[in-house]
Amino acid sequence: MIDIQKEFGSLVFNDNVMKERLPKPTYNAFKKCLKNSEKLDRETADIIANAMKDWAIENGATHFTHWFQPMTGMTAEKHDSFISVSDASNIFTEFSGKELIKGEPDASSFPSGGLRATFEARGYTNWDPSSYAFIKDDTLCIPTAFCSYSGEALDKKTPLLRSMEAVRRQTKRLGELFGTNVESVETTIGPEQEYFLIDRALFKKRRDIVYTGRTLFGAKPPKGQELEDHYFGTIRPRVHKYMKELNLELWRLGVYAKTEHNEVAPSQHELAPVFTSANVAVDHNQLTMETMKKVAAKFDLACLLHEKPFAGVNGSGKHTNWSVAINGSDNLFEPGKTPEHNLRFLICVSAIIYAIDEYQDLMRIASASAGNDHRLGANEAPPAIISIYLGDELTDILESIATHKTYEAHKKKELETGVDILPAFKRDTTDRNRTSPFAFTGNKFEFRMPGSSFSVSEPALVLNTIFADTVSGICDKLEKNGVTEKSVYDIVGEIYSKHSRIVFNGNNYSQDWVDEAANRGLLNLATTADALPYLIKDKNIKLFERQGVFTRDEIYSRYEIYLENYSKVLNIEALTMISMTKKDIMPAVISYSKKLADAAKVKMEVAGERACQLEKKQVENLSSLLSCLSDRLDALESAVIRVKDISDFYENACAYRDCIIPAMNELRAVVDELETKVDRKEWPLPSYGELLFSF
Ligand code: ADP
Ligand code: MG
Repeated sequence: MIDIQKEFGSLVFNDNVMKERLPKPTYNAFKKCLKNSEKLDRETADIIANAMKDWAIENGATHFTHWFQPMTGMTAEKHDSFISVSDASNIFTEFSGKELIKGEPDASSFPSGGLRATFEARGYTNWDPSSYAFIKDDTLCIPTAFCSYSGEALDKKTPLLRSMEAVRRQTKRLGELFGTNVESVETTIGPEQEYFLIDRALFKKRRDIVYTGRTLFGAKPPKGQELEDHYFGTIRPRVHKYMKELNLELWRLGVYAKTEHNEVAPSQHELAPVFTSANVAVDHNQLTMETMKKVAAKFDLACLLHEKPFAGVNGSGKHTNWSVAINGSDNLFEPGKTPEHNLRFLICVSAIIYAIDEYQDLMRIASASAGNDHRLGANEAPPAIISIYLGDELTDILESIATHKTYEAHKKKELETGVDILPAFKRDTTDRNRTSPFAFTGNKFEFRMPGSSFSVSEPALVLNTIFADTVSGICDKLEKNGVTEKSVYDIVGEIYSKHSRIVFNGNNYSQDWVDEAANRGLLNLATTADALPYLIKDKNIKLFERQGVFTRDEIYSRYEIYLENYSKVLNIEALTMISMTKKDIMPAVISYSKKLADAAKVKMEVAGERACQLEKKQVENLSSLLSCLSDRLDALESAVIRVKDISDFYENACAYRDCIIPAMNELRAVVDELETKVDRKEWPLPSYGELLFSF
């Protein structure tokens, strides 16, 4: 039996441990710094560091590391042991406040997007006291932010923390305008993590999955997800064991792992945690992704976090649930019983409508990557067009305010099932909408576009920044005009009249919507290369500068890093395809054709022309496909060479989009056709059927 309460947080230097192990004045000083976002003095840091070290050693740790989140999207760590040398034969253990607060990793080998030259190696990691330290692999991990010698953000955490401060500043103003004494403001995030599990032995046989995270070839199996029999289906025993171990490891790390279920595609699953502060949620999600992969190996499984590991079935997303709460539990997006009279709620929803419409481009960029481009707009995923689902009730309220009409409240009705024995309850006033990229789901917004392998930091910091900025503009008005029903309704009505084009409650998966969105003038940025140039638009740079989230240089550096990453990912995919075609696929097809030809020859000798017609036809067919394969391989190879010479990052990304992706698609099409024609025993790669339905 697992004692959840005992296990939960057992590897975390959390509040309970601090209360127990720190002298009271130190503990109080630490809490005060956290609450007021103040800097900690050295003496307090020394005492905390020492207590951390003793606790970590008692719990099996020998090393410590500053754990940070560079622009690779992964986490980074460099371990140092706690030992110090006292004389030639003796050591003692030591961990100082200085070591806790500051680290100096060599920054030159991490992506910086031109923010630093490679010879300028200094970078700093800076303790983030708002996320607890924890023990992983016998190492005390200290969550940190990572910046350059001159203080520019080189990571995903620094701008997130800045964006949370922006929300704090503006929400404090707003809360106080509405008469609340604002002690604290928290951005809350609950990221639902989708993933695939496949057999490890099969995974190792697919170099495309090993190198790129997705299948670059693979003919469609006879069965996919069309029977809709996997979603919420019974969890297979091996997967159940995996989930059990995963939960345990996550609970020990203090991650609030809560919901688990099968997802839509075969072999696809989801884990959702209980929501928490954005910064902690980002750290926890990184730990979740890492632990998912680690635990999979224990069960001879491989966990795939790519957004589209398999063509033709659902991809994986990371639905990012987002809200803002004052003083712990006072959720800004809680509509209450009569939302039409909940003025603060109406203001906050209007702020979101304004923000999402004005910054559709940033929302798109927050979900842009080479991998996610395959997912958006494909099976059961939102399109690349940003819109908001509000539901009928909220839409009616806003519409009546904008048109000065009286609002008829929606009444909760009893659910009629036609079966008396089922307990009665009232259904919600609005349905849910699975197809919307950004949906209001009762008391929070669910951003469904971000990809499964993303850091939650990007979507969170964009939402935070655009919300803070809009709230700031609204507060300016309210501070001038005072808060009355009229002044609020004026703002709400004006915003809705101007920005209601972003509201769409219908089916986002339909072609009709794509056409209508174009008529409404909404952006439809199909690929990452289309979306990224919007990042450096003046209005966006000014927004980030205004809210203190990014400087102009930092934006440009990110622009470069994202473009470069897009091209690099596609380059690796193209090279993997080329190599697999030459080393696996071509030899297999040639060898199989030879077998057929030999068989035809023997049959011809024994039984004459008529007896070997099938083999002959097959050989002809395979030969013509092989020559097509060879042409397409040449085309891809020469495209790769051509685009490599383009030095401008943007031009380079466009060339990958326009030349490499189409050439890859062409090559894949002929390989997939060959797969359907070659003997199963001769085909060098495990098929989709085997990968998706093997256990
Ligand atoms: P569904 O799949 O039906 O959308 P899930 O239960 O899988 O719902 O996930 C919902 C997620 O939203 C959970 O992670 C939950 O903790 C999170 N969530 C709930 N309320 C909030 C909130 N106020 N702020 C942020 N996230 C929230
Ligand atoms: Mg879910």
